[in-house]
Amino acid sequence: MQNMERACPQGQSAGTSQDPGSGEMNKSEHITAGQPAPKLYAAREPVFNKRIDGPFRRFKWAVMVLCLAIYWVTPWLRWNRGPYAPDQAVLIDLAHRRFYMFGIEIWPHEFYFVAGLLIMAGIGLFLVTSAVGRAWCGYACPQTVWTDLFQHVDRFFDGDRNARARLHKAPWGPAKIARRLAKWTVYLAISFATGGAWIFYFADAPTLHHEFWTGQAAPVAYGTVFALTMTTFVLGGFMREQVCIYMCPWPRIQTAMLDEKSLIVTYKDWRGEPRASVKKAEKSPGQFGDCIDCNQCVAVCPTGIDIREGPQIGCITCGLCIDACDRVMKETGRARGLIDYATLEDAEREKAGNPPTRHLKLIWRPRTLVYFTVWGSIGLALLFMLGTRIHTDLTAAKDRNPPYIVLSDGSIRNAYTLRIRNMEGRPRRMEIALEGLSGGLLWSDDVGREQAARKIVRTVAADETQSVRAYVVAPANTPPQDFTFALQALGQAGEADNAKVQFDTPAGAP
Ligand code: SF4
Ligand code: SF4
Repeated sequence: MQNMERACPQGQSAGTSQDPGSGEMNKSEHITAGQPAPKLYAAREPVFNKRIDGPFRRFKWAVMVLCLAIYWVTPWLRWNRGPYAPDQAVLIDLAHRRFYMFGIEIWPHEFYFVAGLLIMAGIGLFLVTSAVGRAWCGYACPQTVWTDLFQHVDRFFDGDRNARARLHKAPWGPAKIARRLAKWTVYLAISFATGGAWIFYFADAPTLHHEFWTGQAAPVAYGTVFALTMTTFVLGGFMREQVCIYMCPWPRIQTAMLDEKSLIVTYKDWRGEPRASVKKAEKSPGQFGDCIDCNQCVAVCPTGIDIREGPQIGCITCGLCIDACDRVMKETGRARGLIDYATLEDAEREKAGNPPTRHLKLIWRPRTLVYFTVWGSIGLALLFMLGTRIHTDLTAAKDRNPPYIVLSDGSIRNAYTLRIRNMEGRPRRMEIALEGLSGGLLWSDDVGREQAARKIVRTVAADETQSVRAYVVAPANTPPQDFTFALQALGQAGEADNAKVQFDTPAGAP
């Protein structure tokens, strides 16, 4: 897989050439006074990829429509959580520090659920990459989706590959300026509709939508939409494959994860070489391979690479070159699959005349099974934790200064700040009781000492955390010790929590 690390020869679309100054400096070259310094980077060669139709192109369309539909529709889905919680199915409520996802509500102290989901997403990508190569890059990555969309806008305004290349080289004039302005306006509209829609995940979508268009939304909403629109406009409209090749770390990580059993888009050079045009091949039967050197695979490539040079970091495995080559093979009466999804191991097998391994067998192998097991185990653990979590929580912090007060009757008082969490969408009555600390009594700011008892009851509002100043008094001569605040949601067996704390006395700490 060493050649996977090879720098992408980007800009190799037909009719373009590599900048001669962009290659590595030859060891024998020397910079001398008066000579121009060698360039340290390659100037971008624009990619004018050709329109193509075929199974992979149609699959790309389907994934694009599905991804965009999920992205746009999700914030508008409603989910009834009762009168005390928002009814948006998926909501990142920063103001109240909550994350809602359908029936799940994540509180800040439960962030490990989000961490678990992120870990699952990471391992899921490892799993997909080791099974079917860079499928994420080729079909579902937002950068791929936007680049693909913008390339279709280019095609709509400027025509297909050759027309776009001609227009690119043409001098600036009124017609070119008008076309460019029209195209960039559509870019901006798409960027606004896609990047800008992200804000609906952070507030009630219908309300924010109304406020946004009536000028009543918070400045941060307009600022966020502007920033996301402009980043989408620049990354998808102009930087395109440069993001995949130079900015995104994922291709580097993926090349490290691919092995000889990973499915990648492969040019079967043993079948295609030596290349020759149809005419030349007809004149010398048996002398040439199946590749007719038509360059169609290069022309349709959205990153402008030539897959015939072997696996390379610029290949996002979108399969469009497979569509293009299969069409050429069909038109010239040859078998499809000169370019195809294959593993490097299978490439060797096929070269030796053996049949390729079935794709299903390639997907289910020890490595992918390990990833799948880890991924599934984390998912099951998260589901188990979600299913068994309680919706009540208690924390207690003791006053440190002063650690205790000796009252006029000789009894000793310690003070605590309790935080009682009600994570259900309805108000609940909760009882806080002392466990341990013989002779100890409890009262709070709103209950006088004369009403001190072993327990107090509080009503905690729906989906809220209530702070309670609690005072605990114990008889004189009580030794320092630990005791427990026990919280119980009344009428709900199992909805309980407790917090162990320290009781200080003049005799010192326990
Ligand atoms: S499309 Fe197929 S036949 Fe044409 S140049 Fe590419 S590999 Fe060769
Ligand atoms: S080489 Fe083929 S699979 Fe790779 S990015 Fe280009 S068109 Fe897509």
